[in-house]
Amino acid sequence: MLHVLREFTLAESPSTEKTPADRCAELIAAEWSKRDNRVALIPQKVRGNHIRVEWRPPAALESSGQLLVLGHYDTVYATGTLATMPFRTAGRKVFGPGVFDMKAGIVQALFALDALLATNAPVNKQIAFLWTSDEEIGSESSRKLLESEARRSDAVFVLEPSLGPKGLLKTARKGVGEAEIIVHGKASHAGLAPEKGVNAVHELALQIARILKWNDLRRGVTVNADVLRGGTRVNVIAEEARAKLDLRALRISDMHAIEKKLEALEPVLRGAKLEITGGFSRAPLERKASAELFARAKKLAAQMGIRLGEGTAGGASDGNFTAALGVPTLDGLGAVGDGAHSRHEHILASTMPERAALLAALLASS
Ligand SMILES: [Zn+2]
Repeated sequence: MLHVLREFTLAESPSTEKTPADRCAELIAAEWSKRDNRVALIPQKVRGNHIRVEWRPPAALESSGQLLVLGHYDTVYATGTLATMPFRTAGRKVFGPGVFDMKAGIVQALFALDALLATNAPVNKQIAFLWTSDEEIGSESSRKLLESEARRSDAVFVLEPSLGPKGLLKTARKGVGEAEIIVHGKASHAGLAPEKGVNAVHELALQIARILKWNDLRRGVTVNADVLRGGTRVNVIAEEARAKLDLRALRISDMHAIEKKLEALEPVLRGAKLEITGGFSRAPLERKASAELFARAKKLAAQMGIRLGEGTAGGASDGNFTAALGVPTLDGLGAVGDGAHSRHEHILASTMPERAALLAALLASS
């Protein structure tokens, strides 16, 4: 497994660089092609090509449905990162760009298929494996594809990294979004004609004070004004100001409530105008979308002597899209490790076989 992981990691695959990403996709596709299945590269103009693998087990009828195994091969690291962050093993840990998020997950799925083939496990449904190229930048080029695969599927297994040192599965994920408040005021000389100005920065400050109160950590609702811009110079009353907001919610109802409140914002200062853009881009993955699959995973893991736990992720993945369609989705089935998107990104090598076995068992019992 480490040999394949090394090969996948040495092929750097940043979401925003098509040529290297395509090379990595070819390598992954070639590895899957060595097995008894159908592999297709789905060409993309701007982003890396997506990879779709289809395995029809001997026992599966066309009518018996499909299971989707989902993940991405793109990483947040630009090409050349390997020079300062090489693929390396240190004790139980394996380091390298994208090993945890989520190339080890792809390797585990590959070996799960190997296990199913080697044991002639009686798998009843067709299995589609989809490895996309742009999850880290919002899945613009893959969303339609993965949604249409999910609609055809009875369950979705997401090979994103697990949570924490115990490798918790992610049975809930926050929905996320970005919005912008743009305030239009009126410029005027701050000394000569202050009464003729409408200060956009002041208006924005009042709006942010309002938004601040929407935060409810206990319910998993956060609204953060993270980027501000406004005004031109100190003796000019600011004509324009804008704030970029990070939006997160654990419940779909809370997501809608925040979007409504944003839309309903009214200016406080006379003469100020507000413009609101953006909103949630990924709906929350509510626990009920995962509950049944997790219960089964927990039971299967127990049979293997593994105590499997669950947790909530503050960030979204493509699992949020599939769960929003009403398709049962279990996320965080990938690697156990830490440090996603950072210099110390790593996995715990010894957990790879057991997580692969768990996925195989889930697929064989669906
Ligand atoms: Zn990921």
